[in-house]
Amino acid sequence: MIDLAVGAELEAELEGVRRLGREFLRPLGIEADRNAAPVPPDHPFFALAWRMGLGQPLGVDERARAGPRISARRGVVLAEEMSYWDRGMSVAMPGLGLGGPPLLGMGTAEQKERFLAPFRDRERPHWAAFAMTEPGAGSDVAAIETTAVRDGDAWVLRGAKTFISNAMRADWIVVWATVDRSAGRAGHRAFIVERGTPGLEDMRYEHKMGLIAYESSSFTLRDCRVPAANLLGGERHYAERAGFKGAMRSFNATRPAIAAMAIGIARSAYDAARDFTHAHHVLDRPTPRAQRVREKLARMARKLEVGRLLCWRAADLADVEQPNEVEASMAKAFAATSAQEATGLAVDILGDTGVTAHGYVEKLYRDVKAMDIVEGTGQIQRLVIARRLVGLPNA
Ligand SMILES: Cc1cc2nc3c(=O)[nH]c(=O)nc-3n(C[C@H](O)[C@H](O)[C@H](O)COP(=O)(O)OP(=O)(O)OC[C@H]3O[C@@H](n4cnc5c(N)ncnc54)[C@H](O)[C@@H]3O)c2cc1C
Repeated sequence: MIDLAVGAELEAELEGVRRLGREFLRPLGIEADRNAAPVPPDHPFFALAWRMGLGQPLGVDERARAGPRISARRGVVLAEEMSYWDRGMSVAMPGLGLGGPPLLGMGTAEQKERFLAPFRDRERPHWAAFAMTEPGAGSDVAAIETTAVRDGDAWVLRGAKTFISNAMRADWIVVWATVDRSAGRAGHRAFIVERGTPGLEDMRYEHKMGLIAYESSSFTLRDCRVPAANLLGGERHYAERAGFKGAMRSFNATRPAIAAMAIGIARSAYDAARDFTHAHHVLDRPTPRAQRVREKLARMARKLEVGRLLCWRAADLADVEQPNEVEASMAKAFAATSAQEATGLAVDILGDTGVTAHGYVEKLYRDVKAMDIVEGTGQIQRLVIARRLVGLPNA
C-alpha cells in the first residue's frame, strides 16, 4: 500500500529546496533562458551550492555506500520540487548526475575510489556525464556504432555522441561503445573517458528549445585511447550480457524521477495560471470564460495528482526491490503527456500573456517537451507497457 505521508525529515529537505529554488534556481533558469545560454560552470552559485552540499540528494560518500539505489521515493519527491523551481537548473547542478548510477552500480572498488575522488573536493564544483545517444542511435540503443577495440593496455574508441547533458564541463563521461556490432546489446561496454583524453574532440554545444540552463553537448571520439583500467566493472562484468543490463538498470531507476520532473514543471505552470486568474479576477464573474478556465484548472490539477501517484508507486516498488518496469513506464508516459497538456492549458488560460516571448509560462511550455523525449520517449514507454501487458519480452 502506498504511504502518502512525506515525513518530517523529507519535509525539512523540501523546505531547503524551496528556499534554494526561490532564491537561485528559478531566477537563474529564467536568466539563462533569456540569454539563450547555459549557466557557466564558473558561476558563483555553483561554487556556493557545492560548498554547502546543496542540490545533490546525497553526498558522494553516502551515495557510494548506498550503491546505485538510494531511496527512490525520496528521489522522486525531491526531483519534483527541484523541477518545480527550474528543471534546467536542477540538471545543471554539479554532481555525478547520470554518470552516478553506472559508476556506483557497475564500477569496481578501485574505479569508485578513483572517479569519486574529484567529487570530494568541496572547493570547486565537479560534474560527470553519461553518453549513450549517437546521431544514428537514440531510442534503439542497441544500434550504437561507437566502437571499442582493445590495443595493448588500452581501448581505442571511435565514434560520435550527441545531446549529452553536462559533457562539456564533466570531469569524466561514461561512454557506451560496442566491441561487436553484430552482437547487439551483448557487445556493449562502458568506459570512463576523462576530460583531456586525447581523441575526445569537437566538443560543441547544442542549442535546444528549452531547458537552456544546462548544456547539451555533442562530441567525437577520434582514436581515443582509454586505459584498460577505465573499462567500467572490468572484463568480468560483461559476462552474460551484463553490460546492456547495467545501462538499462540505470534508466529504469531514473524513469520515475524523470516523470516526477515533468509533474514539477507542470505544477509550476498550474500555479502561474491559478495566480493569473486571481490577479485578473477571471473567476469572479459568472461568465462562460470563467467556467472554461475553472474546468481547465481542475483538469490540470487532476492529471498532476494522478501522475504523481504513478511516480510514487513506481518508486515505492523500486524501494522494496520489486520489478517496476511497467509502473515506471506508465508513470513516465502519463506524467510527460499530462505535463505537456497542463503547460499548454496554462498558456491558453493566460491568453496573450501566455504566448508572449520571455513570459514564464511560455518558457515552461518549451521546457516540458524534453520530458517526453529523455530516457525513453513516450512512444517507447507505450511499447514497453504494451509488450509487457501481452507477455512479450521487450525488443
Ligand atoms: C534535453 C535532452 C537531454 C539529453 N541528455 C542525454 C544524456 O545525458 N545522455 C544521452 O546518452 N542521451 C541524452 N539525450 C538523448 C535522448 O536520450 C534521446 O534523444 C532519446 O533517447 C531519443 O532518441 P532520438 O532523439 O535519437 O530519437 P529517435 O530514437 O530517432 O526517435 C525519433 C522519434 O521516433 C519515435 N520512435 C523511435 N523508435 C520507435 C519505435 N520502435 N516505435 C515507435 N516510435 C518510435 C520516437 O519516439 C521519436 O518520437 C538527451 C536528449 C535531450 C532532448
